[in-house]
Amino acid sequence: MSAPLAIAIDLGGTQLRAALVAGARVEARAAEPTDVAGGPEAVLAQMQRLIGAVSAGSPPEAIGGIGISAPGPLDSEAGVVLEIPTLPGWTDFPLRDRLAAATGLSVLLENDGISAAYGEWRHGAGRGLSHLVYATVSTGLGGGVIVDGRIMHGRRGMAGHIGHFTMAPDGPRCPCGTIGCFEAFASGSALGRRARAAAAAHPLSALGRAATTGAVDARHVVEAARAGDEVALALIDDEAALLGRGFASLVHLYSPERVVMGGGVSAAFDLMEETIHRVMRANLMAAFRDVVVVRAALAENAGLVGAAALVADRPAS
Ligand SMILES: [Zn+2]
Repeated sequence: MSAPLAIAIDLGGTQLRAALVAGARVEARAAEPTDVAGGPEAVLAQMQRLIGAVSAGSPPEAIGGIGISAPGPLDSEAGVVLEIPTLPGWTDFPLRDRLAAATGLSVLLENDGISAAYGEWRHGAGRGLSHLVYATVSTGLGGGVIVDGRIMHGRRGMAGHIGHFTMAPDGPRCPCGTIGCFEAFASGSALGRRARAAAAAHPLSALGRAATTGAVDARHVVEAARAGDEVALALIDDEAALLGRGFASLVHLYSPERVVMGGGVSAAFDLMEETIHRVMRANLMAAFRDVVVVRAALAENAGLVGAAALVADRPAS
């Protein structure tokens, strides 16, 4: 028997993606730039168009429902987006019920970090485990937690905002508004900020030269590090140390069997792996030191596969 079909939607600040998914397999996909200026009503219309495109070849009765992966904070119990910092006008928007009414399909709304965690748990690098922390390190730093064989949801489904514990009281300001969050130190944006400072301080380095043709970001650091640039390699090592320190706190909090790292910065996982583990172990109590960090398996599909798996695994009502 083939895996049941579900439609998954990934609402991002720049891209709106939809896919028809069976298990870990993406059968069809479509995407549009998110209509940021149009607000939720315009994006709702975009979603319907994309759903039509990916489901065109499938009989409606074969589709188990729609899973939406969206930035938080959101109330997954009520199916309501509470706010999206990158998308103005979405405050308290009842996305689940509005899309259900528009399509006639059952809809589930989940935080994007939790969706991706679920995808990696069911079909990716965390398959078969009972306890798992997933961290996506890209523009921001998000993720989700599986404990005791289930998603940790917490009040209003808002648990596992792993990027927003405070690493230091006097650190950089986080996009969430507070000071010194793990995200503010270790996200891809934070790495990009350090890269621009390093490029200015070392104009003759590969990064310094890249800065003469445009703003450098985390991707330039990874490229330059791969080419052996010393300044970039030092930045990658600093980033790995910050991640190792943060992951150690997450391991103490949730006692996962494994930490799975995804997101754009994980493209440099092989360059960071050793330092991540060394710093993590130096910060862990002895009983936790055998926990390893691995690279995510589903890459940019984790949220889509996870949102579809949440639909497929939902208990029949
Ligand atoms: Zn924060």
